[in-house]
Amino acid sequence: MQQNNLHRLHDICHLTDSTYILRIERNNLEFQPGQHILLGIAGTYEQREYSIYSGTDDTYLEVLVKEVEDGIVSKKLKRMKPGEMLNIEGPVGFFTLSQEVLEQKKKLLFVATGTGIAPFHSMIKSIPDLNYSLIHGTRYGHESYGQSDYDPERYICCSSRDKTGDYQGRVSAYLKEQQFDADTYCYFCGNFNMIKDAMGIMEQKGISQEKLHTEVYF
Ligand SMILES: Cc1cc2nc3c(=O)[nH]c(=O)nc-3n(C[C@H](O)[C@H](O)[C@H](O)COP(=O)(O)OP(=O)(O)OC[C@H]3O[C@@H](n4cnc5c(N)ncnc54)[C@H](O)[C@@H]3O)c2cc1C
Repeated sequence: MQQNNLHRLHDICHLTDSTYILRIERNNLEFQPGQHILLGIAGTYEQREYSIYSGTDDTYLEVLVKEVEDGIVSKKLKRMKPGEMLNIEGPVGFFTLSQEVLEQKKKLLFVATGTGIAPFHSMIKSIPDLNYSLIHGTRYGHESYGQSDYDPERYICCSSRDKTGDYQGRVSAYLKEQQFDADTYCYFCGNFNMIKDAMGIMEQKGISQEKLHTEVYF
């Protein structure tokens, strides 16, 4: 159900110099894992989309945000203090797992860059026994946000600028080297260039278009 409400910021957790989690009072907001909200500081007009990072059974609503250089909202949100108020619209969006995928326990490939890992974090926390592989593209290994929340057998961090990830190089290079079952359902989230490249690679590997799902952040 769509809501438009004021929510109190419970806490802010800084993961790196630029990336943080906002933990927000939920006020009974219900959502499907993979959906996003429109978020702004109460009393201001600017709002931006943020995927929900937390699980459906969690007490608080969480979003994972990267401060964008010269960005308006991501900079202001980073300076917020617990107790301050946020305006939330939503949840909205269709970047979710279908009943068919869930009931038939399909093989899932989740591919993210940066904070694009947020919807997958929510799916994995919310839905037990997902048959997933999660490929996370970061610049540095220490940007593998929430790594301990994933099954280590199912998670690969591809770090492009240092050697501290599981794989050194871009997500696209990693995908090119792998084999995939034609029945794999693929979900891509993050920046447009990664998504475009990754979709091309998966199509070349024989995955049909209806199994490719995308959420473009910028
Ligand atoms: C469906 C959806 C879900 C999203 N979920 C998230 C999320 O979970 N976490 C998150 O951090 N962001 C997310 N975003 C991006 C977010 O909505 C904002 O665009 C971002 O926070 C920048 O807003 P800003 O006001 O700070 O910058 P603005 O002043 O609006 O824009 C500054 C510039 O930064 C670019 N930009 C946006 N995001 C990034 C980025 N990550 N890195 C580099 N440049 C960028 C924009 O294209 C723009 O050119 C999502 C976007 C969409 C469409």
